[in-house]
Amino acid sequence: MNQRVLSGSDLAERARRAIPGGVNSGQRSIPGLTDLVITEADGARFRDADGREYVDYHAAFGPPLLGHNDPDVSAAVAEAGRTVDLCGVGVTTAEVELAEALVELVPSVEKVLLTSTGSEATFHALRVARAATGRRLVVKFQGCYHGWHDAVSLNVISAPERVGARDPISAGILPEVLEATLVLRFNDAEGVRAAFAEYGRDIAAVIVEPVPHNVGCLLPEREFLRTLRDECTRAGSVLIFDEVISGFRHDLGGWQAISGITPDLTTMGKAIANGYPVGALGGRADLMELFSSRPGGSVFFAGTYNGHPAVVAAALATLRKIRTEPVHEHVFRLGDRIRTGLSEVFAGLGLPAVVTGYGSVFVAYFMTGPARTYDDLLRNDASMFVGYRRRLLGHGVFELPLNLKRSHVSYAHTETDVDRLLEAAAAAARAQLA
Ligand code: PLP
Repeated sequence: MNQRVLSGSDLAERARRAIPGGVNSGQRSIPGLTDLVITEADGARFRDADGREYVDYHAAFGPPLLGHNDPDVSAAVAEAGRTVDLCGVGVTTAEVELAEALVELVPSVEKVLLTSTGSEATFHALRVARAATGRRLVVKFQGCYHGWHDAVSLNVISAPERVGARDPISAGILPEVLEATLVLRFNDAEGVRAAFAEYGRDIAAVIVEPVPHNVGCLLPEREFLRTLRDECTRAGSVLIFDEVISGFRHDLGGWQAISGITPDLTTMGKAIANGYPVGALGGRADLMELFSSRPGGSVFFAGTYNGHPAVVAAALATLRKIRTEPVHEHVFRLGDRIRTGLSEVFAGLGLPAVVTGYGSVFVAYFMTGPARTYDDLLRNDASMFVGYRRRLLGHGVFELPLNLKRSHVSYAHTETDVDRLLEAAAAAARAQLA
């Protein structure tokens, strides 16, 4: 039979007819890449329907720390598929093992619940904080993203004129919900103290990405995280570290293990299960116990797919591999090489750039330093940032061509992949400057 092979544009057109915008999540449809239809992914690479292959530094916004379709994770998932399936009652042995591992690994986690996404974890963190304190207000920081639900759907990547105002990322949110969220500046300890002085008695929770990776990488100053901890303790507010990106990727204990600052609650996701749909909420036992069914007193928590055996098997296999193989050593070494190499490339071309990141995460802002607050990032040359990444695509290197997005290196990337990235970077930056 003579069957026509469908091109990316044919398939993308079909997608747009059946799926609004042609994709299933925000920021998957990229200007200039609207015909991208992925057909295969393994290790450090993915391929598209038009036969192009990319070395992938986007990494699906962060989950596959081990690389795509890691063989040990895939084997564990297949094994789970032969043994057990979702039963929706009681608990499985594997769920107990995973909960015990998270309690052992993450300093703040005395008890833990599994969700299917990070957004659900942050939603429940805020709900239990409000229930425990009986208070209304939530504090978040400009540039941090905590998922798609209303209380946190504001002030992520804001235009300069929207910084300092409430800047919802979606239509359809009740103004009174937005008004219950205060937006402060990251790394501004003085601003935090001032907000607590004014509103402290009404602040239920402070939620923060300890390293705001949703705008690339802002490294937290010690005094800032310390101030969050002190002010929350003093005011009786719940401090939530959203470690959906930093958890497991930067350290098995998350940024709290690196910084030595322990939140009351921690939200996790992404790298725990190397790409399978997972989230988790853990923390102080007294807060987490509010979720257990008590007549009249419980904070409702549910999810048909929570603790799905395939996902839990993926998580256990991922954690096992991170604990028993030099995963962090490898990605940190490659990450350092990339940051140093890119700095040299841009300096050699006389191109002002701040190349930053941590461990496996890297980002190059096209601006002069420093890069400590969101306001600093407004100096980034967005057209250079996006244009440079579009040119990388032509060299088979994929960094998401959207302003301020971070990139990731995985256990599956090799030194040769890094050489290729650095060569492509030099060519792309040179062409962009020409
Ligand atoms: N928190 C952070 C820090 C995130 O980066 C994300 C997603 O990118 C979320 C929460 C939401 O996670 P999910 O997309 O799994 O709902």
